[in-house]
Amino acid sequence: MHKGSCHCGAVRFTVDGGIDQGIECNCSHCSRKGFLLWFVPRPALTISEGEDRLTTYTFNKHVIQHRFCQVCGCQPFGLGKMPDGTAMAAINIRCLEDVELDEVKRVAVNGREF
Ligand SMILES: [Zn+2]
Repeated sequence: MHKGSCHCGAVRFTVDGGIDQGIECNCSHCSRKGFLLWFVPRPALTISEGEDRLTTYTFNKHVIQHRFCQVCGCQPFGLGKMPDGTAMAAINIRCLEDVELDEVKRVAVNGREF
């Protein structure tokens, strides 16, 4: 289980599972925010504190809810659905504690067209 938080600590969460890879997407949104993303089924994410501090940004087709802390601006995760309707969470690995970023396998995704 991994623990994570936004920068100011208003939002705290846990994620069940092991990080298999980190997605680096080059779309306009991910590149600006510098995400390293880990996709997990939505039930693996538990928001333990500060859900009411989160605000939501959507763009393009508005299928992903980009949740970010309204105090410090960190975006610890986004919520969305797979094409088959399965609820997913995209965890920002950079907001997790105790992760050696150098040891995460990076996978580049060309999201620029989306
Ligand atoms: Zn915050």
